[in-house]
Amino acid sequence: MTQSKRGLIRRSCGTLFLLFLIVAGTIILLRRFQAPMQQNEGFVFGTTYHIRYKSPTDLHDRIRSVLDQVDASLSLFNKQSTLSKINRGETDKADVMVEEVLRLALRISEETGGAFDVTVAPLVNAWGFGTEEQTTLSDAHIDSLRQFVGYRNLSLSGRTVSKSDKRVQIDCGAIAKGYAVDKVAQLLRENQVENFMIEIGGEIVVSGKNDEGESWHIGIEQPDTTNVGGALQEVVEMTDRAVATSGNYHNYYVRDGKRVSHTISPQTGRPIVHDLLSATVVAPTCAEADAYATACMVMGAEKSRAFFKNHPKLSAYFILAGNDGYVTEKIN
Ligand code: AMP
Ligand code: MG
Repeated sequence: MTQSKRGLIRRSCGTLFLLFLIVAGTIILLRRFQAPMQQNEGFVFGTTYHIRYKSPTDLHDRIRSVLDQVDASLSLFNKQSTLSKINRGETDKADVMVEEVLRLALRISEETGGAFDVTVAPLVNAWGFGTEEQTTLSDAHIDSLRQFVGYRNLSLSGRTVSKSDKRVQIDCGAIAKGYAVDKVAQLLRENQVENFMIEIGGEIVVSGKNDEGESWHIGIEQPDTTNVGGALQEVVEMTDRAVATSGNYHNYYVRDGKRVSHTISPQTGRPIVHDLLSATVVAPTCAEADAYATACMVMGAEKSRAFFKNHPKLSAYFILAGNDGYVTEKIN
């Protein structure tokens, strides 16, 4: 065969290969572009989840196994979870998820001056919001519990969890839902899913576009205890963000004519009472948004405003009681 013929064959093969790559690439892109919006829903951590994502395949089984993994690590409703075992003193070894969440929780406790505090569990139980039976509720009892509540009673060295007192108990209820949302987002991204909305019990991550090819619309509920229909105070358009809301309008009871909130001030040992009705925080990760939103409820509006001045990369929507209904305040 002459050299020019060999050159022609080589060039033709090269062109064919290039053509093959272009066709294959176009098919993959088309498949992703035309992929349906999958919708998965269910129950986890005593609440509901709703997930929408543009993907040619349904990933619900894999999503479920991520949620089960978070449950097996961090749920206190699961008596066999790593955290339940650490609380009972059966082990001092955290697993990967417990370690990651505790490190973040300790950082946020420090940043918020202890408003957010994962060692608040004994107080949460005493006030009837935990997984344990509520015992007597007297000032003396509450004050006695405060002796071993405080994030400084907890430390992590590698995976080893140390408590200054064996009665120290950990409750990740104000951060674990957000963390679970982040883990599901990670799974979707690993599966080349770019357009999605994940919501677990009101904690959300949005990415890419919604069904209409626009940014996602996030509704912020009116903080009304009778708001069964979920009337909205605000609708915010955003994408590639994590959002979490804390408020005292869903989980509370009335005692002596006063509303007892599930958010406990670690400083006073008592449920918070103040002007801020709900705090919605927008942060890089949902675990952070979740923890900061709870911290805002503890700090109240004034201290939270000061906090956000020092954290310009975070933003928030506060809902306060106005003279004539609710008032929304946008922070940062
Ligand atoms: P969230 O709905 O994210 O604000 O979380 C509320 C839950 O967090 C409560 O039901 C408690 O289990 C827990 N919790 C209450 N007070 C605090 C606090 N000061 N810091 C951290 N977690 C708390
Ligand atoms: Mg929270």
